[in-house]
Order: sequence, then C-alpha cells, then structure tokens
Amino acid sequence: MDCKRIALVAHDARKRDLIAWIGANIAALDGHLFWATGTTGRLVREAHPSLDVTSLKSGPLGGDQQIGAMIAEGRIDLLVFFVDPMTAQPHDVDVKALTRLATLYNIPMACNEATADMVVSSPLFSDGYCPRPVDFAAHDSRSV
Ligand code: PGA
Repeated sequence: MDCKRIALVAHDARKRDLIAWIGANIAALDGHLFWATGTTGRLVREAHPSLDVTSLKSGPLGGDQQIGAMIAEGRIDLLVFFVDPMTAQPHDVDVKALTRLATLYNIPMACNEATADMVVSSPLFSDGYCPRPVDFAAHDSRSV
C-alpha cells in the first residue's frame, strides 16, 4: 500500500458525517497520513485515535489556506472536504481558494460522501496511482 497524504475538512454541519464516513472506511484509511483543519482534526483524532492526523489552524482562521498551500507545494494527494452547501460560511473565499487549487493541481477532491465513497473504494486508491502532473510552463514563460 502506498501512503497517501490526505487532507480532511468538514464544515460544522458535516463534521459528524465525516467522522462516521471515516469509521465506515477505517480499514482503507488506516496507515495513511492526514492533515486537517483545526476542529475537524481534533474531532477526527478523538473518534479515531489510530489515525495519524496533524491539525492545522481552524478553517476560518486560515486552515483552508494552509491546506491550499500544501497542495501548491505538492504535499497533498487527496482532499476530502465535506461541504455544507446550506450555510453561509464566513471564510467562503478561503473555501473557494482551496477548491480552486485542488482543481488547478489535479488533486482528487471529494466534496460529498458519495464521491468520497467512490474515491476510497476505487482500485486507484490503493494501487499507487499518480495523477498527471499539470504543466505550467506556458504560464510561467508567458510574456506580459
Ligand atoms: P474547522 O474548519 O475544522 O476548524 O472547523 C473547517 C472549515 O473550514 O470550515
């Protein structure tokens, strides 16, 4: 099994769902490395002490941005972000920035439980799959 670096985020109304999802998939998730926004990370560690979870800042205090920076630095392989689409978030711009960077860097990103189920049960999850790296050469060398 290759060790994946997995980022976890859940909005408040979805935190219980994320913890339950992790419990239902603990066999597949054990042994990987996790980074999480502050509150999500604390709750995941309390519920699932076998997981190696590093907590960053709370999302509204910059945690989503920290995960975005890790994605830009090539340090995250998968983002599992249980989004609450029914509640306005004070840090909506940070959430948008995080999902934009995951899209830009071609990182698998599960924003709801059904997608997370598909990702974790895919043969690609356990067979050393590497997403195609995105080539930014044209952007970096553009003349402005
Ligand atoms: P939290 O942040 O885990 O610190 O609650 C999640 C979020 O970005 O809303």
